[in-house]
Amino acid sequence: MTEKDYDALRTIVGRDFVLVNREQTAAYMYDEVEPEFRPPANIDSIVVKPSDTDEVSEIVRYAYEHDIPIVVRGGGTGLAGGCTPVVESIVISMERLNHIFEIDEKNMMAVLECGVTLMQLLEELEKHEGLGFPVHPGDEGAQMGGMAVTNAGGARAVRHGVMRKHIMGIEAVLPNGEILQLGGKLVKNNAGYNLCQLILGSEGTLAIVTKVILKLYPKEKCSCTIIAPFEDFGDACNAVTDILHSGTIPLAVEYMDKKLFTGTAEMLGLKWQAEKGNSDLMIILSEKTEDRMFEAVETVQNICEKHNCYETLIAEKKSEQDELLKIRSEHYSYIVDSICDSFDYAVPVSEIPNFIADLKHLAEEYHTGNNIVAHIADGNVHGDMWYVDGKVPVYAEEYKKRMYDLVFHYGGTITGEHGIGKIRVDDLKLQKNETELNLMRGIKKVFDPKGILNPGTVING
Ligand SMILES: Cc1cc2nc3c(=O)[nH]c(=O)nc-3n(C[C@H](O)[C@H](O)[C@H](O)COP(=O)(O)OP(=O)(O)OC[C@H]3O[C@@H](n4cnc5c(N)ncnc54)[C@H](O)[C@@H]3O)c2cc1C
Repeated sequence: MTEKDYDALRTIVGRDFVLVNREQTAAYMYDEVEPEFRPPANIDSIVVKPSDTDEVSEIVRYAYEHDIPIVVRGGGTGLAGGCTPVVESIVISMERLNHIFEIDEKNMMAVLECGVTLMQLLEELEKHEGLGFPVHPGDEGAQMGGMAVTNAGGARAVRHGVMRKHIMGIEAVLPNGEILQLGGKLVKNNAGYNLCQLILGSEGTLAIVTKVILKLYPKEKCSCTIIAPFEDFGDACNAVTDILHSGTIPLAVEYMDKKLFTGTAEMLGLKWQAEKGNSDLMIILSEKTEDRMFEAVETVQNICEKHNCYETLIAEKKSEQDELLKIRSEHYSYIVDSICDSFDYAVPVSEIPNFIADLKHLAEEYHTGNNIVAHIADGNVHGDMWYVDGKVPVYAEEYKKRMYDLVFHYGGTITGEHGIGKIRVDDLKLQKNETELNLMRGIKKVFDPKGILNPGTVING
């Protein structure tokens, strides 16, 4: 890009909102992928911060006319390198498109600009008695646009599903600058192909989402967290299946290797109270009334007991529940220095015990370990690869492929939540056949004939 391009962009968004100095742009080059596996950013890329959809459209129109690649940056909390510009690009940062246009209480929907963060939405909903939004990927700095196009999930998916289930409409800017309104405040809408759903989960490769219409839900007033410690992992998994069958659907059912619960608690100056057992489940219940909550707790406890659980621990006070959740959420800080790559596989729930046992055996074969953290009731397992003597192991690629072979053996997917981004583009070819890949390439070409939107993401030529 040249000074002429910078000036054109300054004319659109104002001088203060075009960053070309590398010291200023550095913070916009990476997401949360571990440093060793980050796609290298092209540091000649510049950052532009539009204030509304029209400015986004004008920037994109300029880029389209001048064949300049564009990468959209949301909250930068992604775990697949999606918002990193790998060729010289205009990085469009959405931080100023942060308006909450409407909380429509009658229709139970929210109309939000794409840069509204999850934290901002949750704070706003505090002001609206009885309305909530359930999807919660771990980092509240994620933006609505980013959550939409990564189809974010999180711990509460067991009850509420993933992001695409809750998005009723979007405003999107196509790679030629044209603005589309897709869907709306409609519960039912079967008019033609669902372009809105196609853009959701496309990781910023088909269109730029500038607005979202989200479904809201009645807030549940009572919640409680149960820690259920089992000796045997298989028993814990059977309890999960029975809980799902019981009709009492928890808000979340989380599993972590015991050492992660105890170690993270210690790191935080806390104590993990479940001393017995090797396999602890964290089961979060959320109900409308106290009576329903008592009933749910009883159901879960009975099922756990039937599957040989030690005595369950119940946290009812908000402060106690927050402490437990903090231990679950902060485990990453506990392991971050020892791991070089992390994974996000998903398998059918029934296959979890065999799949995790095989992952552990595989790690033993390589004389390494694999920290297992799982949204276990969704079959979504996070595992990792460890450094050897502070370096990425020489067997990294081979080991990863053998993990994937296990994923495929159990009918799974290489990513349940985090997406393909830039770091798993080659891995996608291991899961999808040429026909599927060609259909994806065709769709990309229809939306983005010049290939300027987020090059090197999800699919390559
Ligand atoms: C500690 C931690 C825990 C996490 N836990 C979970 C979890 O449990 N479940 C889960 O699903 N995820 C989880 N994540 C991942 C992450 O929070 C999600 O992927 C999030 O949805 C990304 O949103 P973002 O705004 O940060 O997007 P970014 O990281 O900025 O971008 C992600 C992708 O979306 C594109 N993009 C962003 N905004 C737009 C837009 N407006 N229009 C078009 N394209 C856009 C980018 O180009 C990029 O390809 C976790 C992340 C962290 C750091």
